[in-house]
Amino acid sequence: MLKRIWAYRRLHRYISHMEVVDCHEHLHPEDTRLAMPMDVAVLLGEYCGQDLLNAGMRAEEYGIVFGSEAAAAQKWAVLQPYLQAIETTSYYRALCISLKKHCGIDKLDKASFEKASQLLQNGNTPGVCERALAASRIRYAMVSSFPATVRVQQLGGRCRYVPMYYVPPMAQEHGFLRRPETLADLEQQADEFIALALQGGRAVKLRVDTPYTAATPAQVQQALDDWLGGVREFCPELCWYFVELLLQRCAVHDLPVSVHTGYWGDFRALSPEHLIPLIEAHPRNRFDLFHLGYPYVNSSLLLAKTHPNVCIDLCWVYLISEQLARDAICRIVDLVPMNKVMGFGADYWHYESVYGHRRLMDRTMALALADKVADGTLTLAQAKRWARAMLWDNPVRFYGLDQ
Ligand SMILES: [Zn+2]
Repeated sequence: MLKRIWAYRRLHRYISHMEVVDCHEHLHPEDTRLAMPMDVAVLLGEYCGQDLLNAGMRAEEYGIVFGSEAAAAQKWAVLQPYLQAIETTSYYRALCISLKKHCGIDKLDKASFEKASQLLQNGNTPGVCERALAASRIRYAMVSSFPATVRVQQLGGRCRYVPMYYVPPMAQEHGFLRRPETLADLEQQADEFIALALQGGRAVKLRVDTPYTAATPAQVQQALDDWLGGVREFCPELCWYFVELLLQRCAVHDLPVSVHTGYWGDFRALSPEHLIPLIEAHPRNRFDLFHLGYPYVNSSLLLAKTHPNVCIDLCWVYLISEQLARDAICRIVDLVPMNKVMGFGADYWHYESVYGHRRLMDRTMALALADKVADGTLTLAQAKRWARAMLWDNPVRFYGLDQ
């Protein structure tokens, strides 16, 4: 017990003072953000909003709290009865840490909700992104954005632009840059997409909400004909063909490929297990599986253990559940080579939220590694090496951030 507390204190100090790589965010470009009205509800909307709905908040109430019409006092009156249900979640605890840091409040109540909302609005000034990332001790943040909505020139400073190809199920336009008329047109779009990655953070982010299916060229052509002819509204073969084109180009330029796995929507389609044929068909590509594939954590760990071209990433996992992240780190230490794990990233659009998640990570990683020191698996020096590998060495090397 004493050894555990001793190790935790040293590891927590070591980790919390470290500058880290943030492997995943969706941060708004600052010019976009400065035009937005800010209040506490904006930050609450990042993930806590889902918990509120699932805790019973009605749609019209949700519209009041997260819309831009109601005053802070009115939002608080609607919100307050539901907060008790979510106050122990990692989502909410991270938010409270951020509000304490940025607005100096200890607990949300009617007065502090209004005060913090005003302070967030007052702080929404040029340099807000840089200030928030510096306060979170983040040297680089890999920021995934849609090419259709964010230009690469809009993300500078500590942010690295990562173009994102994301296709929700049944998306009529299949997430393309524009409506393709031929397969050659899709190849042209893939070239444009990769050009954006090369100008930005030299990485690509993927998410397709249907299980991977390889298709022959004839099947892809048929799918395009069907879609253009109105025979079918959505053809997942076209999405996966576009992914194929992107992967070919990523291999040529040695660009790493981040893939959303697990939690979101019908998460069964996003299980990392569905990616096994894709990963094995592309040994020249380097994949970073985001979110440990939660809830399919063991599958993603085993993929990293058994495939040289797969790394795993704890981005967003501390927010999903601190306890889950702690358990996962203990298993990772036993199971996965030290150079294949990325230790931090969030999944936020708003800069102020990043701080709370960073602090949750500091605590969770220190607790997990202290467990391994206390049970004799790691020396303190080895535990520090694990922390440094996950938070700096591995992401810097994998994403080429030292170039
Ligand atoms: Zn994301």
